[in-house]
Amino acid sequence: MSAQSDLTVVGARIWDGISPGYLERADAIRIVDGRIAAIGRAEALRGSSEPLDLAGRTVLPGLIDCHVHLCLDPGVFDAEAQTRGSDAEELAKMRERAAAMVRAGITTARDLGGGRFLELAVRDAIARGEALGPRLLCAGQPVTSPRGHCHFWGGEAADIDAARAVIDRQRERGVDLIKVIATGGNLTRGSRPRDAQFPDETLQAIVAHARAYGFRVAAHCHGTPGIRASAAARVTTIEHCSWLGEKTGSDYDADAAAALAAHGIWVSPTINSGWRRFIDANDERVARIGANFAAMRAAGVRLVASTDAGIPNVRHSDLPRALPTFARFAGLTPLEALRAATADAANALGIAGVTGTLAAGRSADMLAVDGDPLADLDCLATPHAVIARGTLIPDPSGASLRGATPRTA
Ligand SMILES: [Zn+2]
Repeated sequence: MSAQSDLTVVGARIWDGISPGYLERADAIRIVDGRIAAIGRAEALRGSSEPLDLAGRTVLPGLIDCHVHLCLDPGVFDAEAQTRGSDAEELAKMRERAAAMVRAGITTARDLGGGRFLELAVRDAIARGEALGPRLLCAGQPVTSPRGHCHFWGGEAADIDAARAVIDRQRERGVDLIKVIATGGNLTRGSRPRDAQFPDETLQAIVAHARAYGFRVAAHCHGTPGIRASAAARVTTIEHCSWLGEKTGSDYDADAAAALAAHGIWVSPTINSGWRRFIDANDERVARIGANFAAMRAAGVRLVASTDAGIPNVRHSDLPRALPTFARFAGLTPLEALRAATADAANALGIAGVTGTLAAGRSADMLAVDGDPLADLDCLATPHAVIARGTLIPDPSGASLRGATPRTA
C-alpha cells in the first residue's frame, strides 16, 4: 500500500493523548509524508488534495498494545505446539494478525516474544510499507531459565554467561528490547507462576547486560518474589504483575510497589476483554485485583495498557474492547485508560517522540470513532477510520469483526 503524501482530516473533535479534554481551537489535522504537519482550524490547513471529512467523529492517537505475541494463534491452546509450522505458513498468519490489529485502531504494538524472529520480518515489512500492520517493537526470544516459562522459544540460560549469550544473539538478530522471564508462567508445563526463575544476581546481570546495549527490559512477573527482584534490578516494565504468593489470593508487597514507583518502572497488567466475565460474575478476583491496583496507584506506580494478545482466546485486535475492562479493574477514568494506551504507553516504550500523541512532527497514527471516548470507552470497539503512519487503512475495525463477541478463556 502506498502512503498518501498529503492528507488533511477535517471537522473532527480531537483528543491529543494528554489533555484532560478535547482541543478547543482545532478541528483539523494536516498530514504530510506520514507525519502530522499541523493541527488547527480546517480553514487554515487545507492541503492540495480532497480532505477526509470526519464531521461528528472524534479523532484520537492510534492505540498502543504494550504486550502481544504475533506468533501465537489465540485458537490454539498449546503454545509449544505452535513452534512447528513452516516459516512461510507462520509468516502468512502473522501478517493477517498484524492487519487485524491496525484495522482495529492499534497503530503500535510491543511484541514480547517468539522463537524464530519471524515477527521481526513482519515488523520490517510493515515499516517498508509492504504489509499492513502496526509499528512493532520486538523482543525476540525471552531470556528464561532451563525448562523455564517459554523455554520452547529458545532463550534458555543456565547461568549469567549463558544469559549474556542469549542477549547477544537477540541483538544480532535486530530486536528492539529484551524480555526476561523473572517468574514461572501459566502456558508452560512444569512452570509455577509464583516462583522466581533466576537468582537475584543473575537477574541483575541480565538487566545490566541489556542496558549496556541501550535496550529497555520487559520482565514477566506473576509472583511477588520476582516482582521484588525485578524492581531491584530496575527493569523498564513489569508484565502481568499478579502479586502471587505461596497461598491462593494476593501477596501484595508495599515496599516492592514503592520501589516500582521510585524507579519509574511501568506496570503492564495484560488485561484482555475476556476478564469481563469476572465482573459479570461478581467474582472475588475483581475486588482482590482491584485492591492491588488501588494500592499501586496510591503508591505512584504508572500503568500502561496491554492484552497479551495471542494467548488462548485473546485476539490480536482485542485492545480497544479490553480498555473498558482494564479501566474497571484498575480504577481508571476513561481519560486515564486512554492515556495508558497512547501517550503513557509511548513513554514506557521509549517512543514518545514518535507516536502516542497528536502533535506536529509525530507520526500520523490516529483513529476516528463515533461517540465520546473520554466519557465512554465502548465506542473504541468500532472505529470509523484508522490512519497509520499517514496511510488510511482500508476496512477499519474489519466490518467482519463488528458485532462479534469476544471469546473467553
Ligand atoms: Zn506474553
